[in-house]
Amino acid sequence: MSSVSNGNSNGSFKMPDIKIKFTKLFINGQFVDSISGKTFESRDPRTGEVTARIAEGEKADVDLAVKAAREAFDHGVWPRMSGYERGRIMSKFADLIDENVEELAALDSLDAGKLFSHGKLMDIPGVSRVLRYYAGAADKIHGETLKCSQQCQGYTLKEPIGVVGHIVPWNYPSTILFFKVSPALAAGCTMVVKPAEQTPLSALYYAHLAKQAGIPDGVLNVVTGFGPTAGAAIASHMEIDKVSFTGSTEVGRAVMEAAARSNLKSVSLELGGKCPLIIFDDADVDMAVNLARVASFLNKGEVCVAGSRIYVQEGIYNEFVKKAAESAKTWVVGDPFDPHVNQGPQVDKAQFEKVLQYIEDGKREGATLLTGGKPCGDQGYYIEPTIFTDVKDHMLIAQDEIFGPVMSLMKFKTIEEAIEKANNTKYGLAAGIVTKDLNTANRVSRSIRAGIIWINCYFAFDADCPFGGFKMSGFGRDMGLDALDKYLHVKSVVTPLYDSPWL
Ligand code: ADP
Repeated sequence: MSSVSNGNSNGSFKMPDIKIKFTKLFINGQFVDSISGKTFESRDPRTGEVTARIAEGEKADVDLAVKAAREAFDHGVWPRMSGYERGRIMSKFADLIDENVEELAALDSLDAGKLFSHGKLMDIPGVSRVLRYYAGAADKIHGETLKCSQQCQGYTLKEPIGVVGHIVPWNYPSTILFFKVSPALAAGCTMVVKPAEQTPLSALYYAHLAKQAGIPDGVLNVVTGFGPTAGAAIASHMEIDKVSFTGSTEVGRAVMEAAARSNLKSVSLELGGKCPLIIFDDADVDMAVNLARVASFLNKGEVCVAGSRIYVQEGIYNEFVKKAAESAKTWVVGDPFDPHVNQGPQVDKAQFEKVLQYIEDGKREGATLLTGGKPCGDQGYYIEPTIFTDVKDHMLIAQDEIFGPVMSLMKFKTIEEAIEKANNTKYGLAAGIVTKDLNTANRVSRSIRAGIIWINCYFAFDADCPFGGFKMSGFGRDMGLDALDKYLHVKSVVTPLYDSPWL
């Protein structure tokens, strides 16, 4: 069984000194209480204990935030200043984030149970990189010159889409926030952000840094609160021009319905995934086992692109199973602030119970539990890294997004079979391929219906690399210049020529 260094039990690491400074809504450049005065609890998933009380924004607070964002868009300087100037302010914002990496990483660990070491090395530095990428793009927003077929000529202008609502999930509270906020800022939009109720702390801290960096009041507003109230108010708001959502397919559908029923705002959805990792006979087995372990267990499996369906070709299957079981045993579960730990607690009790239920479903449906399968530690929401073999395509653990440290291993014979199995899901977010054969890699990557394909790697994200779904994983792209387009309208401007029939 994996070792558990839960709480302070082994005393071999030093906890950072965490101060929660911001707990109120951020509207029009000020931290304010919610109109109702209500607050909700933010809990530490290591223990389940309350760490802070956060202002609970509802519809009336969203209305205030949208009013501020609307005013900042319709009459403020942000959409009207040069892209160069917006880029300079965004770069300053990125510098301030770099100066506060430890504090920001600690807040995400405290809220979400994420590894503090990963936050410091990856999540938070990644956020400032994404911001700088779009800061560099802010003064390169071009239209086209149009030589029209009739006697006229024209050009296109790319203009900011307006007030944007960003609805953010809890699994990557910093990363996904900046997937959305950065291109929207570069485009010249103003916005209302709703972080997930499980992870409000870092978003409020970022709002404070945005103000320090010189982002004008009203441009970036943060309303903390629950999905069915604050989130739904954003989705249905008549004065919001676009909503960018990341979360479950079920809620994505509700967001789209609300947008359709209100002002037909533009919607982009990054939803669930059930991503395949296909490992061919020619793979280096040790490397493939390590990749599968990371693909399935990183961030305790709370990743929409988690490689939770592992397809292994029959020639190496038995060796792979044996090595995968051994490697799960060296994957350390414990306090996310401990630098020796690989996996912290699930985000909250509901998620913890949901994952354990899926493990029970796997056993009930006849899969073989190879390793793990139980909670661990005597407090908090820790679950052993779990591997099932003999998984069949129809089983719940092969079809549903579990969002927990559960790997399903399946055997295949031919490349055709691998492609068919990989595509046998309602989702289409990401996929991985492990092979040394270029033809195999090319053929499989072109045959899989998913938004990103990783060959001999996994979780390789880059600011320049668009990311989003096929099928029920949603539509619209985060990152890359495609994401900038999401926040821009195209306007055509046409003038007649001297011999035009339009004159
Ligand atoms: P998960 O299943 O990963 O918790 P959700 O889709 O429930 O993901 O939540 C993602 C985000 O959507 C969170 O910020 C949540 O508060 C918000 N949300 C939940 N329900 C709604 C809703 N009805 N309308 C708008 N946003 C919602």
